[in-house]
Amino acid sequence: MSAPDRPGRGPARRADVVSVPGATFATDPRLHQALAGAGTSVWEWHLKTDVLGDLDEGTAMLGYARGEIESTQAAWSALMHPDDRAGNDAAYERHARGETAIYEHEYRIKARDGSWRWMSERGRIVERASDGTPLRMLGTQTDISERKRVEGLALELAERLHKITRHVPGMVFQFARLANGGGYFPYVSERCLALTGIAPDVLRTDATIMLRATERADRERVRESISRSMQRLRPWRCEFRLRLPDGSVRWLRGSATPQAEGDGAVLWHGYLEDVSELHELEQARLARAAAEAASRAKTKFLSHMSHELRTPLNAVLGFAQLLQMDASEPLGVRQQRHVTLIHEAGGHLLEMISELLDLTRVEAGRLEVALSDIALAPLLRECADMLQPLAGGIGVVIEIGPCDAALQVCADRTRLKQVLANLLSNGVKYNRRGGRVELRVRGGKRRITIDVVDDGAGIAEKDAKALFEPFNRLAQRHSGIEGTGIGLALSRALVRAMGGDITVRSRPGAGSTFSVELPRAGDANPQR
Ligand code: ADP
Repeated sequence: MSAPDRPGRGPARRADVVSVPGATFATDPRLHQALAGAGTSVWEWHLKTDVLGDLDEGTAMLGYARGEIESTQAAWSALMHPDDRAGNDAAYERHARGETAIYEHEYRIKARDGSWRWMSERGRIVERASDGTPLRMLGTQTDISERKRVEGLALELAERLHKITRHVPGMVFQFARLANGGGYFPYVSERCLALTGIAPDVLRTDATIMLRATERADRERVRESISRSMQRLRPWRCEFRLRLPDGSVRWLRGSATPQAEGDGAVLWHGYLEDVSELHELEQARLARAAAEAASRAKTKFLSHMSHELRTPLNAVLGFAQLLQMDASEPLGVRQQRHVTLIHEAGGHLLEMISELLDLTRVEAGRLEVALSDIALAPLLRECADMLQPLAGGIGVVIEIGPCDAALQVCADRTRLKQVLANLLSNGVKYNRRGGRVELRVRGGKRRITIDVVDDGAGIAEKDAKALFEPFNRLAQRHSGIEGTGIGLALSRALVRAMGGDITVRSRPGAGSTFSVELPRAGDANPQR
């Protein structure tokens, strides 16, 4: 209630007074006392005179002495917080116009000690003039300061929780499972939307939406984990995939602690976080570990096999040589040719096996290189001479470009020769009659590059990526040209072990250039 001097209202004549049915005023002092004891006081407002009857309990609740506050609505309104007066007037007006059955309002009022107390007021017009003008009103007022304080604290706590959870990457939640199997989320933090694509309000009212969004393959597991946690009251932990409204799938990890509620229900307090990235890393780690294990097994097998093959092969080669050289039983011309073929083929096989063994050593990190300063010019000459018979047979010319006689690289001489021989032999093999392979040297300040340039078949762009993959013969798979597909993989591993690298440029049909880059002698630190 508020000040009585409202527009359009004048004093009513006695004869015009109409009582509102059921409006009697409790005059029993015991009832007043009981209500006052419960923090509620009763008032009676005579609008014509503005007298506010039975105000004493109300003022006493605020700490005023009897009679200290004038018993008028005007005096009471003067104690009201200025910010609450308009709202109070509006509540009264609505009731006076008949829009509300009861006048109700909560407002602050000044207590004797200067503090603001919260009042909850309810009332009803019990007498009107025949023209409808309100004449008398009865009501109660209750001190709700304590309730307001607690509400304020709760609001403050909620606000604090809200702020904290907003900065937590995952979603904080409460999940309640009822004894009948139904469930709901009494609380979910704001992050819910970003994490699950489901709005917090939606999830609060419908918990099943979460299970429906869970990937079908994971649903049963999630259900079971919740049931187990519920039965044993043990912490719930589960990882599952959730499909978001945009169709993407996320791995979520949930953990929550259950607590039994009296009615057979269980309430969990928990946290849900996105572990998709961790999952991907873990999957990648497992895949890598599996691949590494497979590679180790392969290397072990190859190493073992090549060792085992070498012994009988050496015996074959040895006996072939004995046959060739046995003067006591000389071979016929045809037999000589056949034994020579056995020897050549055996030699080739032995070379392949040695390469294989080298490769397994490289892969196992067991290949050692002995670095020293090596004059380049004579080494290039040796390599060219070594490959001359092969080149001559195919009709390919090997040339050596200008090379400073003083130029030295830091390398393992045998291994570098092996590498250059392999590159030269490729340049010759994958060439044509009349083709050329050239060794060119470029000397940098710290690095020296040896280019093996051919004008042969070249390499298709799509094959370039797999060029250094062991056992991959690319376009030459079915060409009939001899090879194992190990040479380049081994060459690169050897050059890298020497602190250098091999790169390639090629144009199909026009030829290829394989570049071996190595540290200059005296500058062997591969880091530089
Ligand atoms: P291999 O020569 O025994 O097959 P490599 O590892 O030396 O094994 O070479 C792998 C593959 O790369 C070859 O089979 C061939 O397809 C391609 N290749 C290598 N060098 C050349 C080159 N100079 N010109 C064209 N193709 C080449």
